[in-house]
Amino acid sequence: MAVMFRSIPLAFRGYLCMPVPVPARRFSKRADKNHSPTGKVAVVTGSTKGIGFAIARRLAQDGAHVVISSRKQENVDEAVTILKEEGLSVTGTVCHVGKAEDRQHLVTTALKHSGGIDFLVCVAGVNPLVGSTLGASEQIWDKILDVNVKSPALLLSKFLPYMENRGGGSVVLVSSAVAYTPVPKLGVYNTSKTALLGLCKSLAVELAPKGIRVNCLVPGIIKTDFSLREKTMPNKLPDMNKVFGLQRLGEPEECAGLVSFLCSSDASYITGENIMVAGFSSKL
Ligand code: NAP
Repeated sequence: MAVMFRSIPLAFRGYLCMPVPVPARRFSKRADKNHSPTGKVAVVTGSTKGIGFAIARRLAQDGAHVVISSRKQENVDEAVTILKEEGLSVTGTVCHVGKAEDRQHLVTTALKHSGGIDFLVCVAGVNPLVGSTLGASEQIWDKILDVNVKSPALLLSKFLPYMENRGGGSVVLVSSAVAYTPVPKLGVYNTSKTALLGLCKSLAVELAPKGIRVNCLVPGIIKTDFSLREKTMPNKLPDMNKVFGLQRLGEPEECAGLVSFLCSSDASYITGENIMVAGFSSKL
């Protein structure tokens, strides 16, 4: 044993001997033994269609109460109606994630259910520009970074005390395969999605002692209005699809499965991971 420890650098030895923080210990007891989020509250941004809607539906099917949100009231109403008709426990509110007052309103709405929150899934993302990165105006930079990168952190800062009160939680960010393989003319968007990979790592380290896990879903091309819109994948779709291992586009539900897992206690020792759901990943 002594020989083994001699080969470990001093600083790391200290790390090994660090006491496990109390909240983390409590979290790793896997209190919810059936591994499902029954009785938990999940907030999913950008969840009235596409990937966000599939995630909201899946978490609700798993047994969580899910708070749906997006910018447009009519989209929120429609999504809530559909999921309630399926017998799922959901509420909804308008939340443009780039607006501070909307974020506050989302927190208030989520707390109404049981005074706490367990899962935050930040799906909302935008790309208003197809064009040169260096030609992008300051407003474009601000909009993309505000919505895609800053809003998950700002929203989480609001929810954090309530997650801590529950003894832990799970946060999932949503990046994109363009974070690793940039698509030409989407430079600002590519950059925002790469920033999310780093945000995931930083938040994971910062929140681990509180028993809050932070991971990131990294989708390839998923069949939604967003990916088919000219502004997001201009004529790149067929080319990119040819190099993907599974030779097809993904379905939103295939992203939802990963998020369901990351929110379950089966993922209780997983944090700081950027996980691709892309039919193939060349990332080592
Ligand atoms: P989508 O089908 O167009 O759905 C977008 C959802 O977000 C809608 O519910 C929309 O509703 C809402 N939304 C848009 N801007 C918002 C904002 N500022 N605040 C709050 N909600 C907002 O898009 P998607 O394909 O599911 O994409 C979802 C996320 O996945 C995005 O972050 C995107 O970057 C990422 N992603 C997608 C793909 C893909 O191939 N589809 C690949 C990689 C990553 P309202 O219009 O009512 O706001």
